[in-house]
Amino acid sequence: MTFKELNISEPILKALVNKKYETPTPIQEQAIPVAISGRDLLGIAQTGTGKTAAFAIPVIQKLNRLQVQGQRRDIKALILTPTRELAIQIDECFKDYAKYTDLRHTVIFGGVNQQSQTDRLKKGVDILIATPGRLLDLIAQKYVTLNSIRHFILDEADRMLDMGFIHDIKRLLPMLPKRKQTLFFSATMPLAIAELSKSILYNPVKVEVTPVSSAVETIEQCLYFVEKPQKKDLLITILKKEQDKSVLVFSRTKHGADKIARILNKKGIGCEAIHGNKAQGARQRALTNFKSGKTRVIIATDIAARGLDIANLEMVINYDLPDMAETYVHRIGRTGRAGNSGTALTFCSHDERMMIKDIQKLTGQKLNTVLTA
Ligand code: AMP
Repeated sequence: MTFKELNISEPILKALVNKKYETPTPIQEQAIPVAISGRDLLGIAQTGTGKTAAFAIPVIQKLNRLQVQGQRRDIKALILTPTRELAIQIDECFKDYAKYTDLRHTVIFGGVNQQSQTDRLKKGVDILIATPGRLLDLIAQKYVTLNSIRHFILDEADRMLDMGFIHDIKRLLPMLPKRKQTLFFSATMPLAIAELSKSILYNPVKVEVTPVSSAVETIEQCLYFVEKPQKKDLLITILKKEQDKSVLVFSRTKHGADKIARILNKKGIGCEAIHGNKAQGARQRALTNFKSGKTRVIIATDIAARGLDIANLEMVINYDLPDMAETYVHRIGRTGRAGNSGTALTFCSHDERMMIKDIQKLTGQKLNTVLTA
């Protein structure tokens, strides 16, 4: 899939070339067509998935078509986000993606003098990025009106809830026009957020990436550049050092999983392999042993690991890199669940290096290199 195939218009495509984005991320692939179609969207995605572009691109595209030169500017899109840092980041994205359009955008947030913000608002903007408190403030002072909003984006709704902004949002909602498009993003869906989304979205399309519940940010990710023949020794060294941890090792193939299990068992590291060639009973037993702590290490293929729900998994090791960057996020999401910290180690040989680039692109995070071959 390319950005062109998503029917993105020329000025934005040009801006994306500048950013050196080659292909859309999964959330972009799914969300952009929905947002361009005008429907409401419920996006379950965390930071690092490319969600900002997923809402910014359609908004810019739609407003750019609407833009008549010389027309008075009023705020047509509002992006509400919980923190000052996110607000600034989102504004930067709009700056980049709207570079070849005539649209104006600005950002307002609390904790700083409002003068420069109100100066820019007075000149007229099409797109406003705001944190809730300062927005309410500037509305009360009549620097902002929300009557002309066509696109409303609520970003990081779950964090809004954590930070105590729900009340502010509930105050803001009635100030928005009834007829508008709403794009609602949240990394998780606690009940209060699900209810809020229901109350403000009209017949939304739900788009979800990385259904793993944990936030990638809580996982310590380390990268080992190691050639294939040395991987088993590295694995043994690490497992011996981390004696008290339960570890899930990912192998790309069933054969590979069996082989790793044989090598580890020979070295006295109790482990079991689970994959599609093993009977359901054997898989279940292996899992029970792992959960009870009888075996400390389990080696799994991606398919077998799907649906594995192991509480307190402390470490994931990618013995091989997966074929898709998204699989990496699923794999490491097995650790660091429910706010626990977790560690994900990745063994990368020379011919797997390209995948690291894709992974870093998808997660928006750089992997910590621990060992260079
Ligand atoms: P976000 O989840 O919106 O915070 O984006 C995370 C990171 O991914 C940011 O640094 C973006 O610049 C980057 N990014 C977004 N979309 C793409 C893409 N299609 N290709 C490469 N990088 C991207």
